[in-house]
Amino acid sequence: APKVYVFGAGRNEGDASMCDLLGGKGANLAEMSRIGLSVPPGFTITTAVCAEYNRLGNRDLPLGVWEDALVGLREVEAMAGLKLGDAASPLLLSVRSGAAISMPGMLDTVLNLGLNDLVVEGLAAKCGAAFAYDSYRRFMDMYGCVVLGMSHESFERELDAVKREAGVEKDNELDAERLRALCARFKGVYREAGLSFPEDPLEQMRLAICAVFDSWNSARAIKYREVQKIKGLRGTAVNVQAMAYGNMGDTSATGVLFTRDASTGENRLYGEYLINAQGEDVVAGIRTPEPIETLRERIPEAYDELLRNTRILEEHYRDMQDIEFTVQEGKLYMLQCRSGKRTGVAAVKIATDMVREGLVTKREAVNMVGADHLDQLLHPQFTEEAKGSGEVVATGLPASPGAAVGVVAFSTEEAEDLQSRGQPAILVRVETSPEDVGGMAAAQGILTERGGMTSHAAVVARGWGKTCISGATGIKVNEQDGVLECGAGRVYRRGDWVSLDGSEGKVYDGKLAVQAAKMTPEMEEFMGWVDEMRKLRVLANADTPEDAEKARENGAEGIGLVRTEHMFFKTEERLRSVRRMIMAADEAERRKALDEILVFQREDFEGIFRAMRGLPVTIRLLDPPLHEFLPEGKELEDLVGAISLETSVPRQEVLQRVEKLQEVNPMLGFRGCRLAIAHPEIARTQARAVLEAACNAQREGCEVFPDIMVPLVGSRAELANQERVIRQECESVMREKGTRVDYKVGTMIEVPRAALMAGQIAEHAEFFSFGTNDLTQMTMGFSRDDSAAFLNTYLAEGIIAQDPFQTLDAGVKELMEMAVKRGRKQRPDLKVGLCGEHGGDPASVKFCDSLGLNYVSCSPFRVPIARLAAAQAAV
Ligand code: ADP
Ligand code: MG
Ligand code: MG
Repeated sequence: APKVYVFGAGRNEGDASMCDLLGGKGANLAEMSRIGLSVPPGFTITTAVCAEYNRLGNRDLPLGVWEDALVGLREVEAMAGLKLGDAASPLLLSVRSGAAISMPGMLDTVLNLGLNDLVVEGLAAKCGAAFAYDSYRRFMDMYGCVVLGMSHESFERELDAVKREAGVEKDNELDAERLRALCARFKGVYREAGLSFPEDPLEQMRLAICAVFDSWNSARAIKYREVQKIKGLRGTAVNVQAMAYGNMGDTSATGVLFTRDASTGENRLYGEYLINAQGEDVVAGIRTPEPIETLRERIPEAYDELLRNTRILEEHYRDMQDIEFTVQEGKLYMLQCRSGKRTGVAAVKIATDMVREGLVTKREAVNMVGADHLDQLLHPQFTEEAKGSGEVVATGLPASPGAAVGVVAFSTEEAEDLQSRGQPAILVRVETSPEDVGGMAAAQGILTERGGMTSHAAVVARGWGKTCISGATGIKVNEQDGVLECGAGRVYRRGDWVSLDGSEGKVYDGKLAVQAAKMTPEMEEFMGWVDEMRKLRVLANADTPEDAEKARENGAEGIGLVRTEHMFFKTEERLRSVRRMIMAADEAERRKALDEILVFQREDFEGIFRAMRGLPVTIRLLDPPLHEFLPEGKELEDLVGAISLETSVPRQEVLQRVEKLQEVNPMLGFRGCRLAIAHPEIARTQARAVLEAACNAQREGCEVFPDIMVPLVGSRAELANQERVIRQECESVMREKGTRVDYKVGTMIEVPRAALMAGQIAEHAEFFSFGTNDLTQMTMGFSRDDSAAFLNTYLAEGIIAQDPFQTLDAGVKELMEMAVKRGRKQRPDLKVGLCGEHGGDPASVKFCDSLGLNYVSCSPFRVPIARLAAAQAAV
């Protein structure tokens, strides 16, 4: 394969499709040139060469690359009608980096290469001395910094001295004499550093190419790729390109622009430029750049062409573009284009506008908005100014996005107390347990010292669209004394303010300014197209009528998971009934408690059925180990005392019952269908609550489709047992009520054995729902709650590519595929869905679409994101 690709003036060897090999910059320079825009000629050395260069590691170009570069150079010289190192008609070059994914400012660039003491005289004679020496001083500075590792300050000092002597403030006010003197001083800087400035332009070019390759592995580039999770790239390409001079006087300029407003999406040019300047001057802040509209008066022909080009490029790339350009004596040159980064608001506005303008189809538009864009739109955010000036006091996992401001609270009671006084609270805990849900509900945001992205706090917070930072390992939480230590001597007590940025996992000191999420008309139109395109249905995980209502507002087509036990914590009274059920000595006692549970469960289900009228509601029977519902310490003693008194069973005996419930490994213990098989009256009561609620709702004219789901099934026999109990109870309820309800019985697929035995299990299941949190935990053997410590190492070492609790793991996918195949072979009309955290993860949703699942179910706040992902998977 060629190592070098030439571009410019009808001689284009590359194109936009070759991004991987030529880098984004190289591929798009060739493409722009190909479609007739004016691009200074050049050549691109491939990313494959970079990989080879870094593999060899001897800071020398791999065999044959230099020869090919020289051939490229000859072609560029021919196209430009100039010659590198020829004082009579000198060609100057830029040597530019450019990877397949843009890494703004991370890699190096050298401008005006090819100048030396002789060539600069020739350039001065031809184009003016001020311009020539301005270019020379720029080159010496950049070359010294990029290639020889000199400090920019050492050059800057001389520049400042010369400006002072001349009594001017700005670089472009220096005259030719001063600039010539500055060049002489710069030579001195090299001498003082004990370095020699290479006078040979070919030597300059070779070393600059090597320096750009070297910049791929600079500390900051490595860090950037790590932070941005950029993986699997070969390296950077090098673009060697003829210079266009923006520093040739008052009809020359350099600038950058977006073809549309990147923050609002409005259809207007959004950019700035500087007259008589080069390259980085615009961003370096030496002079204040001018808004792009004013270029219309300053250099009209160039502006008109630029405007035309923005249209050509938008039509060609069918997207908003980010453009770099230079004007040399009135003539426009295009130096770079790429699809422009934009905010969530802008992404939706641009996509819908472009459909209206006939630039893109609705299908294309659906792919122009990312999950992170929607996420931004759905959660309140801190303003950029607030983040810029705020002080970060701790960082953790970005467990649930959004912005939360409040005073720290260390318990549910404190958070609820603050809420009742109208004070926003931030619940700070070492970690959270299901008992903290009250405090979590009352708080604006949650901060925990321990726990991963799928820890209890994280899952619940995302479910509620509540900001959460989990696993902030640098903090110390003392719940007893109400002290939060953030390191560096930062200590927060009850009543102190903090701000959480859940999108970035940052804790800020004090109160930061927030802006609310807003639903625009464009957004509604856009989501309409999304729904037209997708095949996969999107349901929501919701535990209360209020959650169900929210889910419906966000476009959910049903409930894929009701975790009934979440309702147990709603009131003291409920919790008491549940605890009595757990601690009952015999069936009679248990039945008494269950009768109380029946009443409130039925009420909850009725509320959910009404909220979801006409849509399926999937209710999971009791899942967690029972001791999760029991209190600890003093509260437990009181409870034991009360029960002993009421039932006249000795305290000791009651306490023993509690102790028997303790388990070493509760996640693999007495939970799920195991509970209901041992105590059929639990399943019976819950089935009754579902069916009675369904009959009642139906009687009011509300259409109901309850799906009763058995958790943690691993074998046919388990499900057969539960199916029998559930159907018996459902049938008797319907007989009593004298009506029929269209209900289904099905199972979670979350134990690996269930996936393997799916064919047999489907004999008793009308539907499957992949519980991918447990399925991942059990397939990988990674604890959901304790794996954060080693997962980070695994990610850093490349042992795993993604957090398996966030994006479906390949092994888990294999099991899912097998389960779908075997299940549908047994029962062709088997309904199959997914209800783990993965239901809101775009990559996982895409996989579910390809598997032919019927639906995914995610937290109400992720529903729009899942809808978008499902549409993108389908188009
Ligand atoms: P980055 O990837 O960091 O943006 P670039 O390779 O785009 O680096 O170079 C930075 C700037 O240098 C460009 O925006 C442009 O202004 C200037 N530049 C690069 N190549 C040329 C060239 N051939 N002629 C004129 N200016 C150039
Ligand atoms: Mg650039
Ligand atoms: Mg589970």
